[in-house]
Amino acid sequence: MKPPIAIIGGSGVKSIIKGEEKIIGTPYGPTPTLTIGQVKGREAIYLPRHGEGHTAPPHKVNYRANIWGLKNLGVERIVATNAVGAIDTTLSPGEIVIPSDLIDFTKSRRGTFYDGSPVTHIDVSEPYCPTLRHAIASAGSDNKKNLRNDIVMACTEGPRYETPAEIRMLKTLGGGIVGMTGAPEAFLAREQEICYASISFISNMAAGLQRTLSAKEVEEKGRETGQILNKILIEAIGKIPDTREGCSCGRALAQAQLNKPEVKEQTC
Ligand SMILES: [Zn+2]
Repeated sequence: MKPPIAIIGGSGVKSIIKGEEKIIGTPYGPTPTLTIGQVKGREAIYLPRHGEGHTAPPHKVNYRANIWGLKNLGVERIVATNAVGAIDTTLSPGEIVIPSDLIDFTKSRRGTFYDGSPVTHIDVSEPYCPTLRHAIASAGSDNKKNLRNDIVMACTEGPRYETPAEIRMLKTLGGGIVGMTGAPEAFLAREQEICYASISFISNMAAGLQRTLSAKEVEEKGRETGQILNKILIEAIGKIPDTREGCSCGRALAQAQLNKPEVKEQTC
């Protein structure tokens, strides 16, 4: 049996997986209700990031329980979806992009599984798995969508939207899109040696680039874009290679930890 592929996303995504529902207990608390089924003949798991009925705001999502729970089920690959605002004015609402890098401006979230020993410094020189990004891009091409894949995502704390001055700052730093759920999810997945990539849909222009921002508008754009997003997701899952030879995500801890027990044994 091949390891299952997980999708973390909003409620619209749930429709692509039908199957058994399960909650996994973790040291960080329970996961939301997961749906375990098949997509393109492969075992797939859907995790609703914000819980059922979208009740957890971005800064209260239990990212550690979510990633731990998926790891516990044998997941080696995660494709995450995010609603984002466009900072890059060559992008427009309704467009779907594949982020290539991530700026973390979150403040209150538990961002690591390694709060103590062994001290662990994970490498995020390439925060998103290149193999998964390629699979998503190629699924986009099959659907006649040329998905931009050179976009830097900035992740803010929320739950409020950003101010125009904050958006100008993020633009100066190279941010092309802004959302509230990209971090620490991507980093936690890397700490668990899980391949992770995002597929982001642009629901609005960021603050200062359109008159006002409304959560309703974001929700409506999500519904509009949902169908094509789901199509690309399904295709992408079919295109993910069976083995993980094309990336180093599965070996992320090999060079990341200080004072590993085996090193101690050698030096004593
Ligand atoms: Zn990978």
